[in-house]
Amino acid sequence: MGLLEGKKALIFGVANKDSIGWGVAKAFHREGATLGFSYAYESLERRVTPLAESVGSDFVEMCDVSKDEDVDTLFEKAQKRFGTLDIVIHSIGFAPKEDLGGRYSEMSRDGFLLAVNISAYSLVALAKRARPLMPNGGSITAMTYIASERVMPRYNAMAAAKALLENAVRYLAADLGPDGIRVNAISAGPIKTLAASGIGGFRKLLRASEQVSPLRALVTQEDVGNACVFLSSDWARYITGEIMHVDAGYNILGFTATEEELLGD
Ligand code: NAD
Repeated sequence: MGLLEGKKALIFGVANKDSIGWGVAKAFHREGATLGFSYAYESLERRVTPLAESVGSDFVEMCDVSKDEDVDTLFEKAQKRFGTLDIVIHSIGFAPKEDLGGRYSEMSRDGFLLAVNISAYSLVALAKRARPLMPNGGSITAMTYIASERVMPRYNAMAAAKALLENAVRYLAADLGPDGIRVNAISAGPIKTLAASGIGGFRKLLRASEQVSPLRALVTQEDVGNACVFLSSDWARYITGEIMHVDAGYNILGFTATEEELLGD
């Protein structure tokens, strides 16, 4: 029997087959969950629908999470279809390209606020609507990145948004804990996706991460999906407010050079 047998999960943020959200969806399907999907804008429908069909789902609805009316409508549709929910996945991020790079001190107010609105506040917006659909408790998981904790080149507006997202995870965990709803985040290592392509020099970041991370590896969408299965399952029933790193150990490093590079001096 699958770890998520009998559970109903709503997944936000699948854009294509490279999306981390899709890695999560495949792992959830393998473990027996019933799935619903929400995508950001019209033209994504033709990509997401066949993916959803391949995991037995015909709930594929548009929702721009920066619009309260969209989020309201989406959860109304989810309630009609599923009645209740057990799992919500927030795999959403956006920052304007001009605020992913350049000098941090030159970041625009609008870019900062847009990144925070779409990438961080949206978790609060989803949690608010998910709560009444989780009368028996549930699990909400967001995707984050280590740029929230440490300075990573070029992440600027996204780094700020991820710090706020992680803060929201803790406050939502405290707020929704008495309702039996757990809120966690997975801090994934770098993965080549559509969103990541907005970060200049991403290929070099991938190479460096693989060289220095303790496990000398790059994580995949599947690795994040498998970790997310655990966090969303009853095996994690007393884990909440947690930022779980799935990054081949990169986060423990104090200095990111290989031993060979250091000894080479
Ligand atoms: P992706 O581009 O496949 O997914 C990002 C999703 O956000 C897309 O589906 C996009 O449509 C959605 N989105 C953007 N604006 C939206 C809006 N207004 N309303 C609704 N949805 C919106 O890229 P990904 O890398 O799979 O990103 C998923 C999550 O994982 C993001 O939160 C990202 O920051 C995080 N993450 C990514 C990496 C990485 O290296 N790729 C590492 C750690 C964390």
